Amino acid sequence: PRMVPTRINKPIREALALSMMTLTTKNIQVEQNLENGLPDCHAEPHLIEEVVLNLMANAAAAMEAWPWKKRISVGTHLEADALAITVSDTGPGVPREVRDRIFEPFFTTKNNSTGIGLSLCHRIVTDHGGSIRVEDPPDGGTRFVVTIPAGSPPE
Ligand code: ADP
Ligand code: MG
Repeated sequence: PRMVPTRINKPIREALALSMMTLTTKNIQVEQNLENGLPDCHAEPHLIEEVVLNLMANAAAAMEAWPWKKRISVGTHLEADALAITVSDTGPGVPREVRDRIFEPFFTTKNNSTGIGLSLCHRIVTDHGGSIRVEDPPDGGTRFVVTIPAGSPPE
Protein backbone atom coordinates (compact mmCIF):
# COMPACT_ATOMS: atom_id res chain seq x y z
CA PRO A 1 0.00 0.00 0.00
CA ARG A 2 1.02 3.63 -0.50
CA MET A 3 1.11 4.92 3.02
CA VAL A 4 1.09 8.67 3.47
CA PRO A 5 0.59 11.02 6.44
CA THR A 6 -3.17 11.00 6.81
CA ARG A 7 -5.73 12.98 8.73
CA ILE A 8 -7.95 10.10 9.75
CA ASN A 9 -11.19 12.11 9.62
CA LYS A 10 -10.79 12.80 5.90
CA PRO A 11 -11.31 9.28 4.48
CA ILE A 12 -14.08 8.80 7.06
CA ARG A 13 -15.88 11.90 5.76
CA GLU A 14 -15.52 10.48 2.24
CA ALA A 15 -17.12 7.21 3.33
CA LEU A 16 -19.95 9.09 5.06
CA ALA A 17 -20.56 11.23 1.98
CA LEU A 18 -20.69 8.16 -0.26
CA SER A 19 -23.09 6.27 2.04
CA MET A 20 -25.37 9.08 3.14
CA MET A 21 -27.89 8.92 0.29
CA THR A 22 -28.38 5.14 0.52
CA LEU A 23 -28.71 5.21 4.30
CA THR A 24 -31.20 8.06 4.28
CA THR A 25 -33.30 6.17 1.74
CA LYS A 26 -33.30 3.20 4.13
CA ASN A 27 -34.50 5.45 6.98
CA ILE A 28 -31.24 5.08 8.82
CA GLN A 29 -30.09 8.10 10.82
CA VAL A 30 -26.41 8.88 10.58
CA GLU A 31 -24.52 10.52 13.40
CA GLN A 32 -20.90 11.62 13.29
CA ASN A 33 -18.67 12.21 16.26
CA LEU A 34 -15.35 12.99 14.61
CA GLU A 35 -12.92 14.49 17.09
CA ASN A 36 -10.98 17.58 16.00
CA GLY A 37 -7.24 18.03 16.45
CA LEU A 38 -6.30 14.36 16.31
CA PRO A 39 -2.70 13.54 15.34
CA ASP A 40 -2.05 12.24 11.82
CA CYS A 41 -1.41 8.59 11.13
CA HIS A 42 0.52 6.76 8.45
CA ALA A 43 -2.10 5.23 6.19
CA GLU A 44 -3.46 4.54 2.73
CA PRO A 45 -6.56 6.79 2.86
CA HIS A 46 -8.55 4.83 0.27
CA LEU A 47 -8.16 1.65 2.29
CA ILE A 48 -9.33 3.37 5.47
CA GLU A 49 -12.34 4.61 3.49
CA GLU A 50 -12.94 1.03 2.33
CA VAL A 51 -12.92 -0.25 5.92
CA VAL A 52 -15.46 2.34 7.05
CA LEU A 53 -17.67 1.70 3.98
CA ASN A 54 -17.66 -2.03 4.79
CA LEU A 55 -18.54 -1.49 8.44
CA MET A 56 -21.34 0.93 7.53
CA ALA A 57 -22.70 -1.48 4.89
CA ASN A 58 -22.78 -4.29 7.47
CA ALA A 59 -24.48 -2.01 9.99
CA ALA A 60 -27.13 -1.05 7.42
CA ALA A 61 -27.66 -4.71 6.43
CA ALA A 62 -28.08 -5.71 10.08
CA MET A 63 -30.89 -3.14 10.43
CA GLU A 64 -32.61 -3.96 7.14
CA ALA A 65 -35.64 -5.63 8.73
CA TRP A 66 -35.22 -3.96 12.10
CA PRO A 67 -38.48 -2.45 13.33
CA TRP A 68 -36.90 -0.22 15.99
CA LYS A 69 -34.56 2.72 15.90
CA LYS A 70 -32.07 2.61 13.01
CA ARG A 71 -29.00 4.70 13.60
CA ILE A 72 -25.36 4.43 12.60
CA SER A 73 -22.81 6.47 14.52
CA VAL A 74 -19.31 6.96 13.19
CA GLY A 75 -16.68 8.51 15.40
CA THR A 76 -13.00 9.02 16.01
CA HIS A 77 -11.05 9.52 19.22
CA LEU A 78 -7.64 8.92 20.70
CA GLU A 79 -7.21 5.60 22.51
CA ALA A 80 -3.78 5.42 24.21
CA ASP A 81 -1.29 5.94 21.32
CA ALA A 82 -3.75 4.97 18.64
CA LEU A 83 -6.47 6.62 16.62
CA ALA A 84 -9.73 4.81 17.19
CA ILE A 85 -12.49 4.71 14.59
CA THR A 86 -15.84 3.50 15.88
CA VAL A 87 -18.83 2.40 13.82
CA SER A 88 -21.88 1.67 15.96
CA ASP A 89 -25.39 0.65 15.07
CA THR A 90 -28.68 0.18 16.88
CA GLY A 91 -29.40 -3.20 15.26
CA PRO A 92 -29.80 -6.69 16.78
CA GLY A 93 -26.12 -7.23 17.62
CA VAL A 94 -23.76 -10.02 16.57
CA PRO A 95 -25.02 -13.35 17.94
CA ARG A 96 -22.70 -14.68 20.64
CA GLU A 97 -22.24 -18.02 18.89
CA VAL A 98 -20.78 -16.45 15.74
CA ARG A 99 -18.78 -13.63 17.34
CA ASP A 100 -15.48 -15.55 17.18
CA ARG A 101 -15.83 -16.27 13.47
CA ILE A 102 -16.92 -13.01 11.86
CA PHE A 103 -13.39 -11.97 10.82
CA GLU A 104 -12.76 -15.29 9.04
CA PRO A 105 -12.72 -15.16 5.22
CA PHE A 106 -16.04 -16.35 3.70
CA PHE A 107 -17.87 -16.46 7.03
CA THR A 108 -21.37 -15.07 6.59
CA THR A 109 -24.79 -15.48 8.18
CA LYS A 110 -26.48 -13.93 5.12
CA ASN A 111 -28.09 -15.84 2.27
CA ASN A 112 -26.43 -14.20 -0.70
CA SER A 113 -23.27 -12.65 0.59
CA THR A 114 -19.59 -13.41 0.24
CA GLY A 115 -18.43 -13.10 3.83
CA ILE A 116 -15.28 -11.27 2.78
CA GLY A 117 -16.03 -7.78 4.16
CA LEU A 118 -14.76 -8.15 7.70
CA SER A 119 -11.81 -10.35 6.73
CA LEU A 120 -10.79 -7.62 4.28
CA CYS A 121 -11.18 -4.99 7.01
CA HIS A 122 -9.07 -7.13 9.33
CA ARG A 123 -6.38 -7.52 6.68
CA ILE A 124 -6.27 -3.78 5.88
CA VAL A 125 -6.14 -2.76 9.52
CA THR A 126 -3.41 -5.31 10.32
CA ASP A 127 -1.37 -4.03 7.36
CA HIS A 128 -1.58 -0.60 9.01
CA GLY A 129 -0.25 -2.01 12.28
CA GLY A 130 -3.65 -1.62 13.90
CA SER A 131 -6.46 -3.77 15.24
CA ILE A 132 -10.18 -4.35 14.85
CA ARG A 133 -12.59 -5.62 17.45
CA VAL A 134 -16.32 -5.91 17.98
CA GLU A 135 -18.05 -4.80 21.16
CA ASP A 136 -21.41 -5.49 22.68
CA PRO A 137 -22.62 -2.14 24.02
CA PRO A 138 -24.71 -2.40 27.24
CA ASP A 139 -27.65 -0.59 25.62
CA GLY A 140 -27.74 -2.93 22.61
CA GLY A 141 -26.60 -2.84 19.00
CA THR A 142 -23.09 -3.43 17.77
CA ARG A 143 -19.91 -1.40 17.88
CA PHE A 144 -16.82 -2.06 15.79
CA VAL A 145 -13.62 -0.37 16.93
CA VAL A 146 -10.67 0.01 14.57
CA THR A 147 -7.36 1.32 15.89
CA ILE A 148 -4.54 2.73 13.77
CA PRO A 149 -1.25 3.77 15.39
CA ALA A 150 -0.90 7.56 15.59
CA GLY A 151 2.17 9.36 14.25
CA SER A 152 4.91 8.19 11.89
CA PRO A 153 5.81 4.52 11.46
CA PRO A 154 8.61 3.12 13.68
CA GLU A 155 12.27 3.09 12.39
P1 ADP B 1 -21.04 -10.45 4.83
O1 ADP B 1 -21.43 -9.00 5.02
O2 ADP B 1 -20.82 -10.78 3.39
O3 ADP B 1 -21.93 -11.41 5.53
P2 ADP B 1 -18.82 -9.76 6.54
O4 ADP B 1 -17.44 -10.32 6.66
O5 ADP B 1 -18.92 -8.32 6.19
O6 ADP B 1 -19.58 -10.65 5.48
O7 ADP B 1 -19.60 -10.02 7.91
C1 ADP B 1 -19.61 -11.34 8.46
C2 ADP B 1 -20.81 -11.54 9.38
O8 ADP B 1 -20.65 -10.72 10.55
C3 ADP B 1 -22.15 -11.12 8.81
O9 ADP B 1 -22.68 -12.11 7.98
C4 ADP B 1 -22.97 -10.91 10.08
O10 ADP B 1 -23.41 -12.14 10.60
C5 ADP B 1 -21.93 -10.37 11.06
N1 ADP B 1 -21.99 -8.89 11.20
C6 ADP B 1 -21.14 -8.01 10.66
N2 ADP B 1 -21.46 -6.75 11.00
C7 ADP B 1 -22.57 -6.84 11.78
C8 ADP B 1 -23.40 -5.86 12.44
N3 ADP B 1 -23.15 -4.55 12.38
N4 ADP B 1 -24.45 -6.33 13.18
C9 ADP B 1 -24.71 -7.66 13.26
N5 ADP B 1 -23.96 -8.62 12.66
C10 ADP B 1 -22.91 -8.21 11.92
MG1 MG C 1 -20.18 -7.32 4.78
